Amino acid sequence: MLAVDHELLRAEQETEDRGESDDDFDDEEIGINETASKGKNNNPIDPSQKLVALTFDDGPSMYTAKILEVLTEYDSSATFFMVGYNIEKHPERVKMVLDAGCEVGNHTSNHKDLSDISRRSVESEVYDNEKLLNDAGAEGELLLRPPYGLTNDTVKSIVKRPMINWSVDSRDWKTKDAASTVKEVKKNVMDGRVVLMHDIYASTVEAVKELVPWLIEEGYRLVTVSELYDARGEELKDGHVYRYTYTAQECAQRQAG
Ligand SMILES: [Zn+2]
Repeated sequence: MLAVDHELLRAEQETEDRGESDDDFDDEEIGINETASKGKNNNPIDPSQKLVALTFDDGPSMYTAKILEVLTEYDSSATFFMVGYNIEKHPERVKMVLDAGCEVGNHTSNHKDLSDISRRSVESEVYDNEKLLNDAGAEGELLLRPPYGLTNDTVKSIVKRPMINWSVDSRDWKTKDAASTVKEVKKNVMDGRVVLMHDIYASTVEAVKELVPWLIEEGYRLVTVSELYDARGEELKDGHVYRYTYTAQECAQRQAG
């Protein structure tokens, strides 16, 4: 049932793409500045390194811990956008994700299409679930991932939070096959991208076991969404939708210009 929405979004993203990024930035002289973002274990994030943000939606579930194990093993982080009905079943998993050095985001109470419900419903879907996450230990204002990636001007005017969509769809929700999930990410991943996955499938856990070491081997550092944007100096604004950020090269050019 998700297929149509995801296909639409995919088409929309491709037209909005900033163009191909260039991995050939090894020669760039980009120092880590004084205010470099701190990643996991307080290791500063070098903005000249290739960065990618894996994101996991629709949990927490029985698979969340298994994904955290892999991330921890490789000293990596990710962002988990959690949905209300699963938080209520296992509120302790919110803290577990935070304790693993990962970020917790809001994926609404009931996973409704926000662009197709009343203003009042949008507010309750977003803010009630944020309250639930706050109570479970994820403090403060949280990034929102709108269900199906769907928003409109009304939603943007109501939601006083940055909305994070994605630029790489692993299609794990569709194929439920580890090999296909791995292939899809390997094919499309680039510096500065946000990858969509779901911590509710066994196949995604298997895919993560292969993808995380592969990404590191390819020179990526796996960071949270907030760390990704912070490292590249792009401010996340309330009511705006994001899918990816600057590559290391674009980031350096912006600073030079
Ligand atoms: Zn979802």
